[in-house]
Order: sequence, then structure tokens, then C-alpha cells
Amino acid sequence: MKNIMYHSTRNNEVRLSASKAVLKGLADDGGLFVPDELPKLDISFEKLSDMDYKGVAYEVMKLFLTDYTEDELKYCIEHAYDAKFDTEEIAPLTYADGVYYLELFHGATIAFKDMALSILPYLMTTAAKKNDLKEEIVILTATSGDTGKAALAGFADVPGTRIAVFYPKNGVSPVQEKQMVTQKGKNVKVIGIKGNFDDAQTGVKKMFNDSALKDELKEKGFVFSSANSINIGRLVPQVVYYVYSYTRLLKNGKLSEKDKINFTVPTGNFGNILAAYYAKQLGVPVGRLICASNSNRVLTDFFMTGRYDRTKEMDLASGNFESERKFMLTESPSMDILISSNLERLVYLALGSDDKKDAALMKDLNEKGFYELDDNAKSFLKDFEYGFADEEKTSAKIKALYEDTGYVIDTHTAVASAVYDDYKKRSGDETVTVIASTASPYKFAKSVMSAIDAANKDREDFALIDDLKEISGTELPQAIKDIKEADVLHDTVCEISEMPSEVKAFLGV
Ligand SMILES: *Cc1c(COP(=O)(O)O)cnc(C)c1O
Repeated sequence: MKNIMYHSTRNNEVRLSASKAVLKGLADDGGLFVPDELPKLDISFEKLSDMDYKGVAYEVMKLFLTDYTEDELKYCIEHAYDAKFDTEEIAPLTYADGVYYLELFHGATIAFKDMALSILPYLMTTAAKKNDLKEEIVILTATSGDTGKAALAGFADVPGTRIAVFYPKNGVSPVQEKQMVTQKGKNVKVIGIKGNFDDAQTGVKKMFNDSALKDELKEKGFVFSSANSINIGRLVPQVVYYVYSYTRLLKNGKLSEKDKINFTVPTGNFGNILAAYYAKQLGVPVGRLICASNSNRVLTDFFMTGRYDRTKEMDLASGNFESERKFMLTESPSMDILISSNLERLVYLALGSDDKKDAALMKDLNEKGFYELDDNAKSFLKDFEYGFADEEKTSAKIKALYEDTGYVIDTHTAVASAVYDDYKKRSGDETVTVIASTASPYKFAKSVMSAIDAANKDREDFALIDDLKEISGTELPQAIKDIKEADVLHDTVCEISEMPSEVKAFLGV
């Protein structure tokens, strides 16, 4: 098997093994680690169709994480995809109204972040052992709501690690917040910031690039790493379920090997859909990748024009960037993001792996608030379809799907589903389509139940959870039972500028 090394999107020269890239999270130059080349599957789809989730996970992950031994990787996979998931299928498909919903929310914290964050702690502690790491690993995490809890659940009381999570104090759902602030564990810290997700992510990235801070902490025996999808150890496990879902449809005769498959993904930081793109490069016959945004439609504007602009919004009629782009708080908070970090990995490929150009564009984004691709790079984006759904469209979709089929989806999934409806209408494309269903409706019970019946807007979250159980006929997830009674253990709130001092206080330095 080919040995795959990783390098920064902003410097092709610095090359690291997979396990070192997992440990480091983000490159010192602020770039993201990417594989020197994207691997190809070396096993038939027929064989993969006969494997369970863990089997497929091994066949996919071994291609990317080549310096992990077979035993190491299988150990990580065994411990990740176990009874923490409430179904042996791990990621089941549900058919409703002409599309397949790939349910990625059957893990411990009922959002798709569990798919990768249940394995990342194993990948990281294995990497620490392999590389003789002396320091304790400090996971710094910015969250728009779901990564935080999934990372906390994964890393709580894992020896040799500590984890600090920063979330936008007024930018997450009540269930998301309660899940985080009730987290137990001797090595965990949860901090609300007076800012939005982009502020949290930028603050964390700054700490990663602060060499004085890093030196100081190294002396005290600590190194930073990341549990965000900027870490290649998050991205690689996410490729698995795209391969898995395709092989399930083959196995059940819903597709033949001649057919293509489309994926529609509700997108924020561009991690999940990038994993689908990697699955395509592995050899899955993907037709269209449909990138769905909510009202924070910076990605829609980007795919339409090749201009990524976090400060100005495209005028839908003229295509010009004229009005100020405002950060909007929506009912799909995990997608309330204007700086989609993982897009840099796609842009890097669009630039023909030109690290200098990539670094220059990211500098533009930082300093001017936008960058623009040239025509050559723009043409690289043609694999992608795109669109956005505003609040009204999103809740109308939840209601219509429930009334037509009885199936209840969460707000993020509904954004994707509404965008897919638009795509299908304008293209007439009949290709079998899978929508990534990224969260359990229980996690956003208030928004979901209010979409179905506006009278629910004034009712209590937990009363609505009981009603949701009633109307959907699904079981109450353990994650919801757990927070009903749990005590609040974290109440720190800080200014953006205080993030480093909060980390130091947490570490006792
Ligand atoms: C994180 C998240 C998303 C966005 O995924 P990205 O990988 O950041 O694009 C969508 N939906 C839910 C429920 C999420 O938690």
C-alpha cells in the first residue's frame, strides 16, 4: 500500500505522517493538512457491500492513515463504533419522498459529529504513543453547537488529554447548551464566549499560531491539538459513511454499479461535504455534490461566482457584491458560519495544489475579507451544485415532509432537503440521491415542532420533546434522557480577547 504523507495547504515542503498530522491538528503556518495525493479504493464494491460499518471503515481509513498499523486502526474502529451507537447499522438509510436520508445521528450526542469524534480520541492517543509524545494533549475546540458536545463526550477522562470547548453564548440551541454545560469529567472545560462561531474559531486558530503561548505551555508539559474538522483525523472517518451508504444501496438493489449517486449535504464549515468529495476521489461514482446553506449563504455565493466574501453579500438579481453581509442566527445554528475553514482544502486543489497562491488568497480573506478565484480555478468547482434555504423554506420543508410521509427531520437536514428539491426541479436530474441527515430532530425539538405547528412556539422545550416522541413514533434518545435531570457544571462566559487566559487558567499555568 502506498504511504500517504500530509502537508500544509500553505506550504508543500513541510511533510508529516498521518499520525503526526492528527496530533498537530493545524499546521504552524495556519494552513490545513492535506494528503500528498488522494488515494483510491483497492477493494471491490461487491466486497464492501458484504462488510459491516466497521469493515468499510477499515478499508477506507487504512488508505489515508497509512502509518497506523492494521492492529492499531482496527483497535480504534472497534472501540469507536460500538454500543455508543443505538443501532448496529451505525448510519442507517431512511427512504422518504423520493430520497434517502443517511441518518448520521445515532451516536452518543445525536449529531453527525459523533461519526468522527467517537474515533478521534483513539486515533489521537494511539498517535501519541506511536510518536512518543511526552506532553499532555490539550484539545482546543470551537463549536457552533454540535462539535463541542461530541468532542467532550469523546475526550472526557481520556488519560493524557484535556479539552476546552468555546461556544457562542447566545448562538446555540437550548438542548445543545444544556448538553455541553452538564458535561462531567476531570479534564474538561466549557466556556461561552461573547461572540459568534466565527469569533470562536478565529480565536482558537490564533492560539494555534501563537508561538509564545505554545512555547510557554510546552515548558509546562502541554501541546495543543484540534477536534475541529480542520483535523485530518476528523475528516477521514467522515469519508467512510459516504462509501458505506453507496454500498448499502448496491446491496439492497436500489442501485447497480452502472448508476451514479448524488449527495446533498447541509454545510457550515465545509467538512462534511469535503468528505463526500474525497469519497468521490476514492472511486465512488458520485454524480453531483449539492452544497446546501442556510441564510448565511457565503458558500452559495462562492460557488456561483468564485468569490468568497465574508463581508459583502451577492445581490441575487445582479450577481454583484454590494450589500453588507450580516451574520445571521438561524434555526440551524450549526451552519451559522461565514468562514468555512475546510473550503481551503478544496480551494487548494482548485489552484492546482499551488501553496503560494493558496496562502495569498487566505491572506486576502483575512485582510480584505474576500478572495476571488481565477477562471481556471473556478472551472474546478463544476462538480458542485449549490443553493440555500431561508428560515421559511426550511420550516415549510419539515412540515410538508412530516405531513406527507410521517418522517420528521431536523432543521439542518431540512435545509439540505429544501435545497435538493430546488435542484431537482431546475435540473430534472433523477439520479438516486442521499441527503446527509446531520442531527436528530430531538436536538432541535422546539424549531422542529414549531415548524409543524406554529402554536408550539410558546411552549417549553421539554414538553415539545415528549410531543415529538408521540408524533414521530421514535424512541427518546439516551442523550435527551441524560440532560433532563443533569446538573449544570460549567458557567464560565468570557470576552473573545480572554480566550487564551481562560485556557491558561484551566491548565493551571
Ligand atoms: C456541524 C454540523 C453541520 C455542518 O457540517 P460542516 O462539516 O461544518 O459543514 C450541519 N448540521 C449539523 C447538525 C452539524 O452539527
